[in-house]
Amino acid sequence: MSPDDICTDIANKLNTGIIIIDSKYNIVFWNRYLEIHADKKPENFIGQDIFQIFPELPEKWLKRKIESVFQLKTQSFCSWEQRHHLFELPHTRPITTNSHFMAQNCTFLPLEAKEDNEHVCILIEDVTDVCHYQTQLNKTLEELAQANRIDGLTQIFNRKHWEECLEKEFSRARRYQHGLALIMFDLDHFKLLNDTYGHLGGDLVLIETAKVISSLLRLGDLFGRYGGEEFAIILPNTDIIGALDVAERIRIAISKNVINFQETEIKVTASVGVAVISEKDTRYEDLISNTDLALYDAKASGRNIVCVAKDLIQVK
Ligand code: GH3
Ligand code: MG
Ligand code: MG
Repeated sequence: MSPDDICTDIANKLNTGIIIIDSKYNIVFWNRYLEIHADKKPENFIGQDIFQIFPELPEKWLKRKIESVFQLKTQSFCSWEQRHHLFELPHTRPITTNSHFMAQNCTFLPLEAKEDNEHVCILIEDVTDVCHYQTQLNKTLEELAQANRIDGLTQIFNRKHWEECLEKEFSRARRYQHGLALIMFDLDHFKLLNDTYGHLGGDLVLIETAKVISSLLRLGDLFGRYGGEEFAIILPNTDIIGALDVAERIRIAISKNVINFQETEIKVTASVGVAVISEKDTRYEDLISNTDLALYDAKASGRNIVCVAKDLIQVK
């Protein structure tokens, strides 16, 4: 066997697609792997433009890529994460993947120039399995991260995530001199409610209250469960007038909400505290303290009421 025959034999036995093109993008060689997977016979296509044989190729992008390989004489790479595939080749795992086509890692190798006739070799690796497992892993990680942010009972943000949101919104508001308001509310006499209807009744009240309030909020508002029966809402870009309006709507919505539980109707009220960011607040915890103090005032003023931090404007 001549060295050329040996090389061709090896190329045809590799489990990688090989296609070689000249500087005019004409195909000069492709191996058996590609012949089988592309379902095209090489003898029909040798000497033909690669973009005619594979019309799915992103011509502008690929020409720029290959041009740089010719010019710089260094290899280049395109992973499945950049582009899922270049060549529309079917894969053999139709059940487990979403894509019709084989995920590919493609390498572009400059080949030694003979008599000024330069070539680029494109290696096509099937990475459908890698792509599939990585996609599944990313999905699972995202689901885990989402579960980490959510309170299991009420399906709104848990305290940890809600505080992280507040920290971000607080520094953004300070940096850009935006308004930022905070509402915290606590259900009134919830211990008594638990004693009367049992823990299951109490749980249902928490779930239904979270649902009602979620439906009242804007997309950018951030609603979380701060503690047992205490909830908190971040209102970005909101001044005290706007925040008071939302707080009062929340108070009314809770007091009017009737929760059906085991043939009985449960009603509940909430005390609400409101504060907005001020020059004196240097940490987001300051805003929480001010809102919490307002909530404490609402409790002390008889409950089912909205109170504002410091100046204690009563809205009800
Ligand atoms: P106030 O009007 O002053 O807020 O009185 P309260 O009874 O609501 O306040 P307190 O803090 O004494 O009681 C809160 C109760 O909330 C006590 C606790 O058992 C109950 N609780 C906390 N988390 C949950 C929960 O996840 N489910 C239920 N059902 N109850 C909870
Ligand atoms: Mg309470
Ligand atoms: Mg409480």
